[in-house]
Amino acid sequence: MAKSPETEHPLKAFGWGARDTSGVFSPVKFSRRETGERDVQLKVLYCGICHTDLHMARNDWGFTQYPLIPGHEMVGEVTEIGSKVTKFKVGDKVGVGCLVGSCRQCDQCTNDLENYCSNLIWTYGSVYTDGTLAHGGYSNFIVVDEHFVVRWPENLPIEIGSPLLCAGITTYSPLRYFGLDKPGMNIGVVGLGGLGHVAVKFAKAFGTKVTVISTSINKKKEAIEKLGADSFLVSRDPEEMKAGAGTLDGIIDTVAATHPLLPLISLLKPHGKLVLVGAPDKPLELPVFPLISSRKIIAGSGIGGMKETQEMLDFAAKHNILPDVEIIPIDYVNTAMDRLAKSDVKYRFVIDIAKSLKAE
Ligand code: NAP
Ligand code: ZN
Repeated sequence: MAKSPETEHPLKAFGWGARDTSGVFSPVKFSRRETGERDVQLKVLYCGICHTDLHMARNDWGFTQYPLIPGHEMVGEVTEIGSKVTKFKVGDKVGVGCLVGSCRQCDQCTNDLENYCSNLIWTYGSVYTDGTLAHGGYSNFIVVDEHFVVRWPENLPIEIGSPLLCAGITTYSPLRYFGLDKPGMNIGVVGLGGLGHVAVKFAKAFGTKVTVISTSINKKKEAIEKLGADSFLVSRDPEEMKAGAGTLDGIIDTVAATHPLLPLISLLKPHGKLVLVGAPDKPLELPVFPLISSRKIIAGSGIGGMKETQEMLDFAAKHNILPDVEIIPIDYVNTAMDRLAKSDVKYRFVIDIAKSLKAE
């Protein structure tokens, strides 16, 4: 008979997880593997709540296995290292993002693009190499191969910075890869949530002019005054969208729900690029004529490799790019998820794991 999550491994662990498609979170006991020779064990201190956690908890994408203990934006402190670990020592502050494994041999892996490995292992919800379900950072500690752990820059605050590990790299990577990081370019960011607000900050740090495209007029003042956006379009206002037509070199679309692409394609200049990073559960309608008529590009992008994740963190530390967060205790997680579903957070919830997660 298969072992229960509590007895699969030798180390006792606890966290909060969802047990079924209701997505309701409650305390869960489970177990972790012992620290292997190339593993780092870390005590989780803070963990961000990504919209992916909500999609997965509620089985929006149809492949969730329960119990689901999410969390892929965690900052922690190293408590034990394996005998062959070279990058870290006990006491180091480190981060773990969306990935905990990949084949390490394919073209993607050998080019520092582990995130595009066909055998990648997500931090939670994936089956690990030992056949057990991987569990994420809404938990007291985690054991991760050192290759998938990043060094935490000294001057980056740990309580605020954790969302960079997913929201940061997911927006930094496409801005860089698609050449949307050139000073003076006009860049659009669709959806001012966890990913979107960090996208604005990176795009500004690259010297571009940023237009936020949002459904929430109430985010306008702050987007411009606090986040540094240059302009703001309400996506549901056809007049505003019309006025912005043909102005943008590139757009990062972070929207988590089904939405029309045509108004966004219309905002692009000829040869402009619309990069989708949001992951709605249903296909989006793709209008072809506006692409053909002015050689526009629609692309997708998924997080980033380990090397680029470290580069992004170091860039954020250097340029003082910090997410705007609401720090919450773990027992607030159900309310936080309901609020996240309504885009009612400015702009990322971060769980204070160390202070609030207690063994039940
Ligand atoms: P989030 O904080 O909920 O932000 C999404 C934003 O989209 C909302 O704040 C809202 O912004 C806008 N929005 C929501 N519903 C909308 C609708 N019906 N129509 C138009 N706009 C809507 O979520 P997040 O954590 O940033 O994640 C966003 C998406 O990216 C999720 O689908 C997540 O799974 C995905 N994701 C992908 C990757 C990747 O590697 N590609 C990585 C992480 C997350 P406004 O109020 O401004 O309209
Ligand atoms: Zn995420």
